[in-house]
Amino acid sequence: VTPGLVRDLAAIVGPKAVLDGEAARPYQRDSTEMQGLAGRADAVVLPSNVEQVRRLVAWCYEHGVAIVPRGGGTGFAGGAVPVEGGVVLSLERLDRVLRFDPELWRMQVEAGVRTGRVHRLARENGLLFPPDPGAAEQSTIGGNVACNAGGPHSFKYGVTAHWVTGLEAVIAGGELIRLGGPLRKDVAGLDLRSLLIGSEGTLGVIVRVWLRLTPAPEALIPVVAAYSSPEAGVMGLSRVYGYGLLPAALEYFDAGAVAATRAAFPGGLPEATAFLVVAEADGTRQGAEALAAEVAEALAEGALEVRRLGSPGEIRDLWRWRNGVSFAVSAQLGGKMSEDVAVPLDRLGEAIAMVVEVGQEHGLRTCSWGHAGDANLHATFMIDASSPEQVARASAAASSLFARTLVLGGTVSGEHGLGWVKREQFDRQFGPVEATLQRSIKALFDPRGLFNPGKKLPPIG
Ligand SMILES: Cc1cc2nc3c(=O)[nH]c(=O)nc-3n(C[C@H](O)[C@H](O)[C@H](O)COP(=O)(O)OP(=O)(O)OC[C@H]3O[C@@H](n4cnc5c(N)ncnc54)[C@H](O)[C@@H]3O)c2cc1C
Repeated sequence: VTPGLVRDLAAIVGPKAVLDGEAARPYQRDSTEMQGLAGRADAVVLPSNVEQVRRLVAWCYEHGVAIVPRGGGTGFAGGAVPVEGGVVLSLERLDRVLRFDPELWRMQVEAGVRTGRVHRLARENGLLFPPDPGAAEQSTIGGNVACNAGGPHSFKYGVTAHWVTGLEAVIAGGELIRLGGPLRKDVAGLDLRSLLIGSEGTLGVIVRVWLRLTPAPEALIPVVAAYSSPEAGVMGLSRVYGYGLLPAALEYFDAGAVAATRAAFPGGLPEATAFLVVAEADGTRQGAEALAAEVAEALAEGALEVRRLGSPGEIRDLWRWRNGVSFAVSAQLGGKMSEDVAVPLDRLGEAIAMVVEVGQEHGLRTCSWGHAGDANLHATFMIDASSPEQVARASAAASSLFARTLVLGGTVSGEHGLGWVKREQFDRQFGPVEATLQRSIKALFDPRGLFNPGKKLPPIG
């Protein structure tokens, strides 16, 4: 540990905002805890304003100390875990809504504002902030931007990047940069904003974000279709596309995911259900009604049952069930290793089957569910997380899953990022030229390699 580290950091943020011992423990982990990943921060600091972030980064840069930016710690890639030590810089106290102009459909927030708070503020004013990653009450806007988070409604509305018009970040040496702003269009210069979005804390610390909002749809009508086989369900999904229909969300759940969650499904499911599609039509009341009818028709052939959910209570229960899928699957054996691969749309059926095959090859209980409309799977190996042998077996299965995903023309991560746990996949997915370009950009932003070292694009060797 650098001598004087805690004293110097405390001089910047105040002694109460430098945590150690028990208080620092939650900051050593994120949602990869189930895989046994934990770090050992040299210090955890909680700045309360941008000036403090600047001074902290400047101090770390001067002293060669690694900086691990942290939002809500809900990440699934270990990005916020201080695996190799350093200073965890938590943005949780930068939680001010700096500006909200509902009549202009825009909001400026500090990075530590929780996603759920932005959802509520928008909704209370007749607006919608569409990105809806599953842990919205814990995750932060800074973390969402750093991971370019998606969610079920990304099918129609796009991922976080689509809703960010500007951001400010602290980069090497404590420099504050402003990229974009409350602008709906901006093509001057190279698009550095897009480089920061999805950078997983490897280029700098995002401190403020301008968000774009959209008028909230008047009506939401979920349509649920149950099938006895994945093949029948995937055919239904391809008809939704083929007919040119655009529901807000288009999700799927395979047999294993259905088995783990069926007891809580609102209104129950037919006994033989081995594949489930959940779509949500939105728009004006009339538009949503018409779209829901068309989606139901597209999904009907080969289905055991197709039904619409109508009442606000049913819709709330459906999304509560959806948000609980990950936890219900974990509860089966006490843990899981879940990967977020994505493939071209026409390979979705093969990818769903591939997950089951990989699980069988490694002797693991397996399931998948996810964002069918974006062909983004949550490929999951169920394990007893306290068994090192099972964790190792799931890691081997994940490695095989990644290799086979790349053969399908896919990506090893559709929404969670590479962070620490998937860092080795970087050089598997990118050729040497693409990889070198990315590492060169990292070196330009972060010449001493102190922002989240080893994450996302690990050093060569
Ligand atoms: C139950 C559950 C459901 C989920 N569902 C989804 C989903 O549907 N879609 C999806 O995309 N993700 C999902 N996630 C993953 C996770 O919620 C998202 O990746 C989220 O965006 C992480 O935000 P966070 O604030 O918790 O970030 P953290 O976990 O704290 O950090 C994540 C990464 O971002 C970096 N980072 C955080 N804040 C900043 C900042 N201000 N500046 C620079 N870097 C920063 C960190 O260094 C780290 O690399 C889910 C997670 C859980 C637990």
